[in-house]
Amino acid sequence: PSILAIETSCDETSVSILKDNQILSNIISSQIDIHAVFGGVVPEVAARHHLKNLPLVFEKAIQQADISLSQIDAIAVTTGPGLAGSLLVGISFAKGVAIALEKPLIGVNHLLAHVFAAKLAFSELEPPYLALLVSGGHTELLMFENSSINPVLLGRTLDDAAGEAFDKVARLLEIGYPGGPAIEQLSLTGNPYKYRFPRAMLEEGNLNFSFSGVKTSVLYTLKENEKICKPDIAASFQEAVVDVLIEKTAMAVRMTGMKKVVVVGGVAANSRLREKITFWAKENDLQIYIPPKNLCTDNAAMVARAAIDLMKNESYASLNVTADPALSF
Ligand code: ATP
Ligand code: MG
Ligand code: FE
Repeated sequence: PSILAIETSCDETSVSILKDNQILSNIISSQIDIHAVFGGVVPEVAARHHLKNLPLVFEKAIQQADISLSQIDAIAVTTGPGLAGSLLVGISFAKGVAIALEKPLIGVNHLLAHVFAAKLAFSELEPPYLALLVSGGHTELLMFENSSINPVLLGRTLDDAAGEAFDKVARLLEIGYPGGPAIEQLSLTGNPYKYRFPRAMLEEGNLNFSFSGVKTSVLYTLKENEKICKPDIAASFQEAVVDVLIEKTAMAVRMTGMKKVVVVGGVAANSRLREKITFWAKENDLQIYIPPKNLCTDNAAMVARAAIDLMKNESYASLNVTADPALSF
């Protein structure tokens, strides 16, 4: 089927047209520059920019896909989790398109969409698989045993998300927003073994995460040292987060016996994580699936791909569907 998908859950306005597993277009308009001034996403500002940008992004996506609207089989839209105002802009627009084209509407969980980025990159991927979802607002281990749309939540962060920790530490280091890419860049010239930041909750059997301790530890290290080498702090922090993510994933593999591991979400764009987790998977005879970096961060193609499997399950949304900012598994 051909799907037109809309993603506006946070600060990326994106529209994609997907035909089966083929991305015809995936236009992403990021508001990073706008929010960087504030050091983080300002919800009202984000919603206003979605409202302004969405019609333009929509036009561009259709043009690039070179498809007529009558060939679209369904409209997909992210319904949550995310910022209420931002989600509503996308949902209202999607309803309008669905009504105008007389096509069904599909509501998509943004976190499920992140996992489907792996399916876009690796069309052969089928359950059972384990997914490590590491994004700006979430850090979760999900088991997809026999369904690609109904995972079992094995563990999640009890405080900060991994991406949030990157963003907060970048703010402490005053190296800009978003923090992930800035820390990755700075780490290139730093020593990852200079500081031993805490690796929280590594006791066997515990699949939850905590990243607020490592952030606090960075704060104290900065306060205690007058002249500090920022690249060493960045590299050592990144190493601590990456180590925990891999250790917890290893634990989940031991507990579930899964042989395939999917790594998705914005933090999956991190080169150190990609390298180390790929190495770990090889050593342990596991198949690893990490989408290309541009499909790890927010985009509508992953929403469209999730919608294809939801459609197979006849999981359609009514025109009364609304935003669910705290949607979870
Ligand atoms: P969620 O998906 O939980 O609702 P979100 O949509 O805002 O949150 P994503 O777009 O998936 O999150 O990812 C953004 C996050 O990924 C930010 O926290 C950002 O710092 C982080 N990130 C992006 N690139 C990298 C990188 N190279 N290394 C580490 N973190 C990164
Ligand atoms: Mg974003
Ligand atoms: Fe996201």
